[in-house]
Amino acid sequence: MTQANLGAGPALHADPNCVFCKIIAGELPSRMVYTDDTVVVFKDIRPRMPVHLLVVPREHIPDLEAIEPRHEGILARLLLVAAKVAADEGLARRGYRLVLNDGADSGQEVFHIHLHVLGGRRMGPMA
Ligand code: AMP
Ligand code: ZN
Repeated sequence: MTQANLGAGPALHADPNCVFCKIIAGELPSRMVYTDDTVVVFKDIRPRMPVHLLVVPREHIPDLEAIEPRHEGILARLLLVAAKVAADEGLARRGYRLVLNDGADSGQEVFHIHLHVLGGRRMGPMA
């Protein structure tokens, strides 16, 4: 698979105003590191850690309030792929943090559910 076609293909239930749906559709550039039929992983445009990846389902699910029992497989895949890409980045042994911001108090910016994979330096306790 070449870099050019990584991530190409429409998002499921795509929201035309959603930045992550546009990335998944190939309408916006991204630094994609992993794709499969359910999720994509790309580098955060504003990294807060030496490693900062976003694990994003192809389906546009705005937030945790919108998840349904049928999403169980997607939600499991997010964690499985997060662990895989973290290992690929050499983080498995030293550790890393997964973050899922949900709703206004968390500071969620993009309302298309995603996991942040954060690592590469020692972190303090969570806020
Ligand atoms: P959250 O606050 O959990 O919704 O996180 C959204 C994340 O998406 C932030 O860390 C942003 O830096 C990141 N982000 C926003 N736009 C892009 C983009 N075009 N490509 C990559 N990451 C992005
Ligand atoms: Zn979306």
